Amino acid sequence: MYEYKILHQSTQSDSRIGTINLPHGVVETPVFMPVGTVGAVKTLTLDDLVNIGVQIILANTYHLYLRPGDKLIKLLGGLNQYIKWNKPILTDSGGYQIFSLGEGIRQFKKNDLRKAKIGERGVRFYSHLDGKEHFMTPERAIKIQHNLSSDIIMAFDECPPATATRDEVEKAVARTFRWYKRCEKENQKNFRRALVPICQGGKFKDLREKSCRFLNKTSAPILAIGGVSVGESKKDIYKVTKWCTGVLDKKRPKYLMGVGYPEDIAKSVKMGIDMFDCVLPTRLARHGTVWVKSKAPGSKTIYGVDYKYRQINLLQSKYRLDRDTLDEKCRCKLCRERFSKSYLRHLLKEREPLGIHLLTVHNLTFVFDLIADIKLKITNNSY
Ligand SMILES: [Zn+2]
Repeated sequence: MYEYKILHQSTQSDSRIGTINLPHGVVETPVFMPVGTVGAVKTLTLDDLVNIGVQIILANTYHLYLRPGDKLIKLLGGLNQYIKWNKPILTDSGGYQIFSLGEGIRQFKKNDLRKAKIGERGVRFYSHLDGKEHFMTPERAIKIQHNLSSDIIMAFDECPPATATRDEVEKAVARTFRWYKRCEKENQKNFRRALVPICQGGKFKDLREKSCRFLNKTSAPILAIGGVSVGESKKDIYKVTKWCTGVLDKKRPKYLMGVGYPEDIAKSVKMGIDMFDCVLPTRLARHGTVWVKSKAPGSKTIYGVDYKYRQINLLQSKYRLDRDTLDEKCRCKLCRERFSKSYLRHLLKEREPLGIHLLTVHNLTFVFDLIADIKLKITNNSY
């Protein structure tokens, strides 16, 4: 279990094609993991996921712990059985949600602000659902993920915001090390799932490198880069990814957390990243925004592929009479049925779930077909 094989290493860059053996099946990398926050990729059925080409989904520990509860899910056979998804699942540790949702500040009643409190033992936080107090520790984060029974579990880390000072980031890096050791101990107790350590270090090169060296020393089968895409510029994301991929063990798959714009995926694959997750394609769809191939001025280039793309919002009035579909060559069901932009706009305006569903399918298909294009180029050593 958890064997990683490099099937092809590009001669042009650090990009590679590989496979990871997981308890619920084999995943071919580079891979994109759609986010199924509460155990469903919003509006999609399992058939939709399979048709798009999804091999592994991500579920959020924080949300599932609060509702319906990890113990309930364990009782009903684990998350795969509960949601009837027989392919791999990765769960995050919940740390990111605890720290990032409004920087841990929650307001339930007027003038009642509560902020998450970080200590060495763990984090005291307040549920965004009902304001109830909870205490999360590295051990507890692992226990919850064991109850969910996911294929890949993430270590509980401290993820400081992009605005954090060097001193704050240095402390977070040190604490993340110590917390990883505790996660590892807990993971070895019974279940022994693939536990993934996370590199922190913000925008500080020496801290990132130190954190990566620590990751290399662990026996973890996958190594993750966290704390990117937390509000910094694209240039900074690339810079940090380059520093980390320069130090991280190349024999293990590397997971860049939370990065998902097409151009960011393409550049990161070139730097040797193998795994991605991001809420963008699904979240944008819910706001009427789609990614389409385009030659129009202002379209964005994607490294290594021969097309550009644009992000458009179908709620704009200019699409009111537009009878064209999004992309005639796209294989997704929205484009295959040639639903017009006018009709899609109407569905979105009426808040018909069908509209969001179709846009979600299209955006994910866009990402999956981009990765398929990139893989072909890696195989031909032209990437
Ligand atoms: Zn489409």
